[in-house]
Amino acid sequence: MQHGILTEIEARAGEHTAWRRHLHTLPETAFEELRTSAFVAEKLESFGLPVHRGLAGTGLVATLKGRLGEGPAIALRADMDALDIHEETNLPWRSTIAGKMHACGHDGHMTMLLAAAEHLAAHPDFAGTVHFVFQPAEENEGGGKVMVEQGLFDTFPVSAAYGLHNWPNAPFGSFLGRSGAMFAWFDIFEVTITGRGAHAAMPHKAIDPVVTAAELVGALQSVVSRSVPPHEPAVLTVTQIHGGETWNVIPDEVVLRGTARGFNPEVRDLIEARFRDIVAGVAAAHGASARIRYERRYPALVNMPAELEQAFAAAGATVGGEHLIRDAAPFMAAEDFAYMLERVPGAYLCLASGPGPNLHNAHYDFNDALIPVGASYWVNLVHHVLGPAA
Ligand SMILES: [Zn+2]
Ligand SMILES: [Zn+2]
Repeated sequence: MQHGILTEIEARAGEHTAWRRHLHTLPETAFEELRTSAFVAEKLESFGLPVHRGLAGTGLVATLKGRLGEGPAIALRADMDALDIHEETNLPWRSTIAGKMHACGHDGHMTMLLAAAEHLAAHPDFAGTVHFVFQPAEENEGGGKVMVEQGLFDTFPVSAAYGLHNWPNAPFGSFLGRSGAMFAWFDIFEVTITGRGAHAAMPHKAIDPVVTAAELVGALQSVVSRSVPPHEPAVLTVTQIHGGETWNVIPDEVVLRGTARGFNPEVRDLIEARFRDIVAGVAAAHGASARIRYERRYPALVNMPAELEQAFAAAGATVGGEHLIRDAAPFMAAEDFAYMLERVPGAYLCLASGPGPNLHNAHYDFNDALIPVGASYWVNLVHHVLGPAA
């Protein structure tokens, strides 16, 4: 499309697309990315790069030193895992594993970073070091956290880390980002309401957990609407209610589950505190008891201004400054690259893939036309940070 797409990478588009489609046929979920990791490692070694295995199980780090001398080290990260979704496309390269699917485009993320590694290994014209980080278990299970805990940045110290995600339904080839919090923190919760079962015709003999649960779902709506300051984005959603087995019996127990999200860590503390108070209060009002499991999952992903500038400069060099969306609205989705950005400064951008099914949809497929764009972005980013500027 633009002059910033490297012709040498574009010339390899057929081969890179074949890699991506091969990975798409083999979706593997959290920490089970064995064949995926083996494929990626084999490619990296074929480019002449040493590969460090075993971080977070299937995680990989390949290292490339520039031939222009000493300089800082940076990490470029791609995620490797798929989702527990049954693919509903009829593509020739559709999933061959029942119930699993690359529905978030991590097959494309691996391919774009591999294509960049291939190009940079052939032309290491920069000063410093690039670590190509391939991370397991981005979805739900926090593989990024595990890599950090197992010493990713102790073994491979870096001055900055960068991540990239494809993004459907924004103009093809544009890059989206924002300074500060860009993806939400998220927590999960489970409430077990225990009352006393009885015949449905004798409610006065029961402590009804169904009525308690119904009231609780309503009462929890006031956390965001009445307790969180209106200028702070936040979500608290009950996604599951389980209880009862038949028409004429009030059950003993009802289980509710759901999620909370936001950007500000103080709002996180506030939501958890209000949640606990309301659950306890509503249960007590009905004479029921409530057991709460509340788990903090990913932190918010926070872009640092200096690294974001580097990322946007490289993106602008790749697709032209008019295709940069620098003030994208923050996303309520979560992204575990946040754990890496808690340890080192860095930036995360989204690369728009044009119209099509959204992420995590059973009809989704990564747009292969993005491969040369994303791979060229990575190469241009290395040159912006480690020189010489293109
Ligand atoms: Zn996802
Ligand atoms: Zn994803």
